[in-house]
Amino acid sequence: MVRAIVGANWGDEGKGKITDMFAEQSDIVIRFQGGANAGHTIINNYGKFALHQLPSGVCFDHTTNIIGNGVAIDIPRLMKEIESVKAGGVPEVNILVSERCQIMMPYHVLFDTYEEERLAKNAFGSTKSGIAPFYSDKYAKIGFQICELFDEEYLKDKLTRVLEVKNLILENIYHKPTLDVEEVFATLIEYREMIKPYVCNTTKLVREAIKEGKTILLEGQLGSLKDPDHGIYPMVTSSSTLAGYGAVGAGIPPYEIKDICVVSKAYSSAVGAGEFVSEIFGDEAQEMRLHGGDAGEFGATTGRPRRMGWFDCVATRYGIEAQGATQVVLTALDCLSYLDEIKVCVAYDINGEITKDFPVTPVLKHCKPVLVTMPGWKCNIRGITEFDKLPKEAQDYVNFIEKEIGAKITYVSNGPKREEIIKR
Ligand code: GDP
Ligand code: MG
Repeated sequence: MVRAIVGANWGDEGKGKITDMFAEQSDIVIRFQGGANAGHTIINNYGKFALHQLPSGVCFDHTTNIIGNGVAIDIPRLMKEIESVKAGGVPEVNILVSERCQIMMPYHVLFDTYEEERLAKNAFGSTKSGIAPFYSDKYAKIGFQICELFDEEYLKDKLTRVLEVKNLILENIYHKPTLDVEEVFATLIEYREMIKPYVCNTTKLVREAIKEGKTILLEGQLGSLKDPDHGIYPMVTSSSTLAGYGAVGAGIPPYEIKDICVVSKAYSSAVGAGEFVSEIFGDEAQEMRLHGGDAGEFGATTGRPRRMGWFDCVATRYGIEAQGATQVVLTALDCLSYLDEIKVCVAYDINGEITKDFPVTPVLKHCKPVLVTMPGWKCNIRGITEFDKLPKEAQDYVNFIEKEIGAKITYVSNGPKREEIIKR
């Protein structure tokens, strides 16, 4: 059985915790898109881990963790991450990497940084992990798959051709130092030696696992609204964040994905630039930020403060539909316990016209949130494991959202720890 765990919104919905929870009963966990630019937080008996590239099943010794072909693999950062997970006390790190996975080249981070520098105030708010240059090169067919590192003659020849154009850009557009073929080649050989023990034909392995009836989890990064096609283009990420892409990025037949578990947070947060209709600002935002997540809403990779907002039913329903949700998990309900009143965005006002349909980006810019106010519950709800035991206001809040988003909320998470969860 293949289950995808993906985000409904702008990312950081708490997918890490939910993947970790489901990973316990899974044989294989696969990352199928994105790269080292996002962070998933999991808290378990070994402690707290901010994972960037490693799949969230990495703390279990019975799960095989796969970095699929759709991922942008940053080899040195992956090595560091493996070391830090081991240093955190995890005895066995079972990780495999697809031989078709493409490599974050040493110059991709440079190009990301230079381009954001050039754009200055129009920058995308990139994490400067090299993701956009990486995927541009992948689709321009000047990227490098891991398997290409094993034929040195071919590799040097291709690298020479690719660096020719890279150097033209570095010199003439960014006015920066150029790249040396021998140096980059040597770095790639180092990368190859580092990654070698983990590389295999993961597609074959996964297909066999499906035949044997194994339980497989696909772990998404970011959320629907950051999808390059269906999100808030151009303020999106560079690889598809949708469960459907899991078939491509993990090498699985689309019809095998039986369960699409979409994660959404009880309030909104976003990083980077881009449309965010229900956003709040100033002290109100700071208060929500400090109450959010397990230690405030600050980026797991970058540490930067996340933008905050009320739960957005319009964006979330759209995000859930884009994923094709079979179930929804609502996380971080406990983070709202401090509020006397909770606002929820139920529609958008486009110059006087009210809509519940999430519009395209140029229209989104003109949307104002239509908010309803609900009473808060003002008490600690962490660790409650039965829905009926929640204060009535909290139950009403969840039921209200469920109705607005039009999908079944099967779990409510009310704390960052694994056991802080309500199954409905
Ligand atoms: P991801 O990128 O979707 O995996 O989410 P992140 O891990 O980046 O951000 C979610 C944050 O919320 C992390 O700090 C989690 O530890 C935390 N978190 C997840 N679920 C809950 C919850 O139910 N309650 C609280 N208080 N924090 C949660
Ligand atoms: Mg995150």
